[in-house]
Amino acid sequence: MYKENTTMNKLQKTRIVDLLQREDFGTGVQVKGWVRTRRGNKQVGFIALNDGSTIHNIQIVVELASFDEELLKQLTTGACIRVDGVLAESPAQGQKAEIQAKEIEVYGVSDPNTYPLQKKGHTLEFLREIAHLRPRTNTFGAIFRIRHEMAQAIHRFFHDNGFYYFHSPIITASDCEGAGQMFQVTTLDLYNLKKNEKGGIDYSEDFFGRQTSLTVSGQLEAELAAMALGAVYTFGPTFRAENSNTPRHLAEFWMVEPEVAFNDIQDNMDLAERFIKYCIKWALDRCQDDLAFLSKMYDNDLFDRLRFVVENQFVRLAYTEGIKILEAAVANGHKFEFPIYWGADLASEHERYLVEEHFKKPVILTDYPKEIKSFYMKQNDDGKTVRAMDVLFPKIGEIIGGSQREENYDKLLSRAKEMGVPDQDIYWYLDTRRYGTAPHSGFGLGFERLLLFVTGMANIRDVIPFPRTPRNAEF
Ligand code: ATP
Ligand code: MN
Repeated sequence: MYKENTTMNKLQKTRIVDLLQREDFGTGVQVKGWVRTRRGNKQVGFIALNDGSTIHNIQIVVELASFDEELLKQLTTGACIRVDGVLAESPAQGQKAEIQAKEIEVYGVSDPNTYPLQKKGHTLEFLREIAHLRPRTNTFGAIFRIRHEMAQAIHRFFHDNGFYYFHSPIITASDCEGAGQMFQVTTLDLYNLKKNEKGGIDYSEDFFGRQTSLTVSGQLEAELAAMALGAVYTFGPTFRAENSNTPRHLAEFWMVEPEVAFNDIQDNMDLAERFIKYCIKWALDRCQDDLAFLSKMYDNDLFDRLRFVVENQFVRLAYTEGIKILEAAVANGHKFEFPIYWGADLASEHERYLVEEHFKKPVILTDYPKEIKSFYMKQNDDGKTVRAMDVLFPKIGEIIGGSQREENYDKLLSRAKEMGVPDQDIYWYLDTRRYGTAPHSGFGLGFERLLLFVTGMANIRDVIPFPRTPRNAEF
């Protein structure tokens, strides 16, 4: 039965994803993984084993008479085991190979009376409460493999296009995206805060000798780098203390921020469109099995939607034109929760109306009123709008926000002052405009928003391993 030279005690572990492809039946193999289910009769047991390398399990066939009774009792759902056995052609439909067990070792038992993942069909809400165990479900195995693949896609895209991966700091002293949204970082004794003469907190005693927070964006630092390396991107954790309990907001999320010297807003849009299509195509090419599972379970239109985005040109439209379309919709009886008028910041319902109802395509909206955008965006000649661009996606709304940056020192400084940005705190940022300034552009993609789109999941808490949201930081 065993091939020559193959003895059980010399076996090396093989991943299940590889084993399921093999046809060299009769070979000795070893797998290590977690028991998903066990069924069988008085003679044989069938164990579905998963090792995380694929959504698919491998079937382990156990001749009960050949194994110790105590050991067999331990082969319950959730247990972790090693199996040495013989690769065999599977009579079961849908899988080529199974393993006839010769030797089983139990690494870790799992008490079936308390293991929370016994039966199938747990709700996503319940699984969020056991986020420490949910990676062991089919759904979250698929999601986290896709998440990994998308991170690889991002690095590959930028690397192949001449971008450098630049690490912007996580702790920052600048607060230019608007106060109140940042998480403060301090080692001060909160039970015993020293005040300065003005009655404020004396930050000179704090770890950095000044007030610091977790970053809301790596963009300002990326701009510094782009003015030296040409094209860079950041990809790291980002923090926002905004109290928005929505299916699209996290307090801690990952952001991808390319920044490119000499790119104008058109180049920026081209880059965003090419980049996002590349990532989605990567998923279609490499995550077939996981996407098929998620599509079957949660979202039948998933593949169509992904292919549609890859194959179609995004609509490019000025904000002012977008407002006209939305106003016409209201005039025709469409009801929005939030009012629509020129100058309004678009809510996700407006963004989704443009994308899902009106154009039925992803939309890049440009040239927003300067009042609702950041101080660093390049001002248009009309004096009213800035060269901003938001990429709006079906089911998500805003997935990317970006702009051409204001490269003129005087204009940038006066806009910073107008918007109450403490310019003495960002002298280093302003310096780029004093020494060899250049036109440049960039954008931020919310990694989890991209994952929402790619996986078809409806809640952003389900595409990050351990979500941080208001009143929730367990695990
Ligand atoms: P929104 O209007 O949706 O709150 P924003 O305009 O505040 O987003 P930006 O500052 O433009 O967001 O950030 C760039 C990108 O980061 C957004 O397009 C989005 O994809 C993502 N993003 C922003 N805030 C969050 C958040 N709280 N959780 C997850 N992703 C986010
Ligand atoms: Mn934005």
